[in-house]
Amino acid sequence: MREIAHFISGKAFVGGSGRFGDVMDPNTGQVQARVQLATEGEVDRAVQAAQNAFEAWSSTNPQRRARVMFEFKRLVEANMDELAHLLSSEHGKVIADAKGDIQRGLEVIEFACGIPHALKGEYTQGAGPGIDVYSMRQPLGVVAGITPFNFPAMIPMWMFGVAIAVGNTFVLKPSERDPSVPVRLAELMMEAGAPEGVLNVVHGDKAAVDAILTHPLIHAVSFVGSSDIAHYVYRMGAEHGKRVQAMGGAKNHGVVLPDADMDQVIKDLSGAAFGSAGERCMALPVVVPVGKKTADELRERMVAEIAALRVGVSTDAGAHYGPVVTAQHKARVEGWIAKGVEEGAELVVDGRGFSLQGHENGYFVGPSLFDHVKPTMESYREEIFGPVLQIVRADSFEEALSLPSRHQYGNGVAIFTQNGRAARDFAARVNVGMVGINVPIPVPVAYHTFGGWKRSAFGDINQHGMEGVRFWTKTKTVTARWPDSALEHADSSFVIPTMR
Ligand code: NAD
Repeated sequence: MREIAHFISGKAFVGGSGRFGDVMDPNTGQVQARVQLATEGEVDRAVQAAQNAFEAWSSTNPQRRARVMFEFKRLVEANMDELAHLLSSEHGKVIADAKGDIQRGLEVIEFACGIPHALKGEYTQGAGPGIDVYSMRQPLGVVAGITPFNFPAMIPMWMFGVAIAVGNTFVLKPSERDPSVPVRLAELMMEAGAPEGVLNVVHGDKAAVDAILTHPLIHAVSFVGSSDIAHYVYRMGAEHGKRVQAMGGAKNHGVVLPDADMDQVIKDLSGAAFGSAGERCMALPVVVPVGKKTADELRERMVAEIAALRVGVSTDAGAHYGPVVTAQHKARVEGWIAKGVEEGAELVVDGRGFSLQGHENGYFVGPSLFDHVKPTMESYREEIFGPVLQIVRADSFEEALSLPSRHQYGNGVAIFTQNGRAARDFAARVNVGMVGINVPIPVPVAYHTFGGWKRSAFGDINQHGMEGVRFWTKTKTVTARWPDSALEHADSSFVIPTMR
């Protein structure tokens, strides 16, 4: 059995906890490797490695740090096929989608290549007589990232790309379900020229997470995962004096106005609801058609679209999506479908009990479609995270706007219309963090920032872009003067200095 070790001080570190997590092949339902789960002492070992690397790395000039990022980007691109296959074999997303996962992370690395510019502080000459004021952005020290299973390349790169480029050293605790790609990324970072200890990977579960949240040498923690755990991480981290950003779950709505281009809507919805088996925090699992005519047409065309979807193994180039990540998750998604039926929603297409010939033990779930879903239903209020699309009918624009606005999650939302004024009004008023206008998955580009609202994010600073630079640095502001005692009369002042 292949064993996946930690990565500390630039090399594999074999842990001794005696505890392991199974890494499955979701296509076959077989265990393909086991990953070591760290003890508190092993997390400390990674933190000490990062601490030892901090002084030299943080005082390396930003251009040289950027050059490591340029080389890392080149290496990841050169290894794209290998990484995508590895990612797909543990996660279950199809190869083309696995490449997208890596590419979206690389775009943050591209942003980090410009870090010398992004790190420049502010300067005011002559803020008072002979007084200049300037600010500088300094790294925090050792920082950590805790990431979910669904984007094992992109989300680690969101975090360590910016954090390391600004001069921090990093401890990554990736998901124990698909831990191999994060380790490969750390190896490539070393090959790109990052000194050992700058990026370390420790695998683990709650024990490792708690060790990170309470470690006195870790100054900031970025978390992405489900909301209850995000909330826990936010509280625990803050209690231990850390800066924390903690992104949580989602239930994104797509509002379809009667004037929308229905050909585009159907194609966009199908990809956004069922791509990656619905295991995306920016998936579109709820569609809100406005008016009966729109709803009836959408439903009819969606049924036909679903019939043409191909579910297959993740290496099948013709498959639209592959298996979900684990047997437990498959059971959970199918449980939500049963719950929807029990609550009185109409199950138009039932994806339960799906079996792929030759892969009967794989974790495949067929596409499902519900109609007449009501906002009071638990299956609507909670995240399903599977290939399930729910139609919630609305009678008016205002009703459609209120649904995502009042939902407990506020990650992303999309509106489909040809009416610019309605779209503008929607974008301005909706109570959600990321909005798409005729864009089904509005994940902002790397030089903007990513973050939801309400229970989709705890903390107030987003991932990547300039918000990422702010999260991973602290600002120091200097007020300076160079008085000439021959010209100025030195005197004590007992009044707070003002700039009158
Ligand atoms: P998860 O919450 O189960 O796990 C996330 C991380 O927390 C993992 O590293 C895991 O090891 C750790 N963890 C698990 N249980 C823990 C516990 N009891 N205490 C401390 N740490 C624990 O999430 P997941 O299933 O890996 O990922 C799917 C979830 O992530 C979905 O809810 C999805 O919406 C969300 N997500 C959100 C975003 C976003 O940006 N908002 C992006 C991607 C995924």
